[in-house]
Amino acid sequence: MKAIRVHAHGGPEQLRLEDIPLPEPAPDEIRLRTDVIGVNYVDVYHRTGSMPLPLPYTPGMDAVGTVDAVGADVTELAVGQRVAYAEAPGAYAEFVTVPVRLAVAVPPELDPRLAAAAMLQGMTAHYLAHDAHPVARGETVVVHAAAGGVGQFLVQFAKRAGARVVGTVSSDAKAALAAELGVDTVVRYDRDDFTAAVRAATDGAGAHAVYDSVGRRTFHASLDALRPRGSLVLFGQASGKTEPIDPFLLAQKGSLKLTWPTLTHHVLTREEFTTRAEAVFAGLLDGTLRARVDAEFALADAAAAHAHLERRASLGKVLLHHP
Ligand code: NDP
Repeated sequence: MKAIRVHAHGGPEQLRLEDIPLPEPAPDEIRLRTDVIGVNYVDVYHRTGSMPLPLPYTPGMDAVGTVDAVGADVTELAVGQRVAYAEAPGAYAEFVTVPVRLAVAVPPELDPRLAAAAMLQGMTAHYLAHDAHPVARGETVVVHAAAGGVGQFLVQFAKRAGARVVGTVSSDAKAALAAELGVDTVVRYDRDDFTAAVRAATDGAGAHAVYDSVGRRTFHASLDALRPRGSLVLFGQASGKTEPIDPFLLAQKGSLKLTWPTLTHHVLTREEFTTRAEAVFAGLLDGTLRARVDAEFALADAAAAHAHLERRASLGKVLLHHP
């Protein structure tokens, strides 16, 4: 089968289309023929080595496909079913084997492209808004990279929960999209001080929570944007890793809470995985949640897809297809 392989960490040119053997599912796995493959920012961290996977590997952490083989112990899904999966590597390929625990049936009435767009990014936004810091009505929360893949879903979940949302973006097109999604205060954090904007939007009090996927460039300003006892949910490092801090800083800045959660620990059982995925699918189907596909590339052009993401050009989900 055709697959993108990474043999050394580095730039997008490390993503090479190769022929590799068709994988066989283990007893607890299914094999999918991929229909729509998701591209996520974490794929960039894996490729550059900032969050390395053992080399060589096939990138890609989510996809929608059709089951074409099941392991001996699998009873939950069957050959021929359309399913979506997330949180296991190997999606940039014609076929991928994944634990059945991390796969869910896609409702027939749901566009598979939207299901793929909402899988890892929608489920991440779901746990961030409901578990990492559960958004409460009347709170003010900050969502960085609000027009990005996770950001768009997070804005929508926070608005649904009744929060006032401050969203940061780096271009006018992203600002317009964030406003359209319901962001109350849009801040161009590439040129304006977002901490000052948060203070202004909250009569000086600061935000109840900041969801920060940008990391190094925003981390300290995110702490400064919080009110006493506020929560910083750090969940990515698009601008680079943060420097270590003395935990006492959290006391000095107002008894703050700091967490660095991952989706892996919020889909620990098949039930938790399917409940979260089905909540996202239900929102897409009843119109309370919108998924935006930004760009689609051929599997062979995965390098161009990564370059698109890394130059901050995407406004939503980037997808791959094989012919
Ligand atoms: P996005 O579509 O959000 O793309 C990343 C965005 O980050 C860019 O569009 C850009 O938005 C912003 N950004 C800020 N600084 C930089 C920079 N120096 N280089 C590149 N981009 C920058 O990607 P995803 O939706 O796939 O992921 C969003 C974040 O969430 C990532 O950091 C990812 O690792 C993290 N994540 C974490 C998970 C977890 O469970 N912990 C799970 C899934 C994702 P702008 O131009 O507006 O600044």
